[in-house]
Amino acid sequence: MKSKLFIYFDDFLSLIYPKLCFACDQPLVANEEVICFTCRQQLPQTQYHLQPGNPVEQQFWGRCHLNAAAGYYFFRQGTRVQQLLHALKYHHAPEVGITIGRIYGHQLKNAPVFSSVDCIVPVPLHPKKQKARGYNQSEMFAAGLSESMGIPVNNKSLLRSVASETQTRKSRFKRWENVKTIFVVGDVEAIKGKHILLVDDVITTGATLEACVKVLTPIEGVTVSVASIAVAGSGC
Ligand SMILES: [Zn+2]
Repeated sequence: MKSKLFIYFDDFLSLIYPKLCFACDQPLVANEEVICFTCRQQLPQTQYHLQPGNPVEQQFWGRCHLNAAAGYYFFRQGTRVQQLLHALKYHHAPEVGITIGRIYGHQLKNAPVFSSVDCIVPVPLHPKKQKARGYNQSEMFAAGLSESMGIPVNNKSLLRSVASETQTRKSRFKRWENVKTIFVVGDVEAIKGKHILLVDDVITTGATLEACVKVLTPIEGVTVSVASIAVAGSGC
């Protein structure tokens, strides 16, 4: 609970430095947090969580077995969705991931295919990268989802073994070559028999997620679904 003095101080600061929406840069008004109400309504939502066989799921067909897959927003260059992801990854705004996770979690827990999820596993970042950024953006998204879905986060069972070069500007094959051996399962017992919701910030080629799914599904009784903040390259 904030003291009255702090509340006055916050109000005073926001007069000088108004808090801005991370998507559109407009000042936030009372009761708005992180993303303004207009952006919450207008940003392009895929609704893929309600659509079995959606384009994200199709992307993984023949590559690995998934129970379901969805992403919250459509991603395009130069849009407010890109600005949100940029803030989350490069401008030290973990609250963007947490907030979107909270919003999306409410939708996912009411979607039949996601209602049986037992735990949320964020795609791990290489420790060096995480240290430089201060946090793992997928873990922030996972934390928000966990809060609204009432399901725990497990960030100990899926680990990254070696540094991978940056994924940008690589062909799909090269991306795959780059990620296929870098994920390992740490704590097998903790995930045996579970329906795992594997989460990442954005799905582009799906190579990173595919590599994760391939080390998780051989474990006894494990099924995997996938959720991301945004989905690139389809339907928009
Ligand atoms: Zn906005």
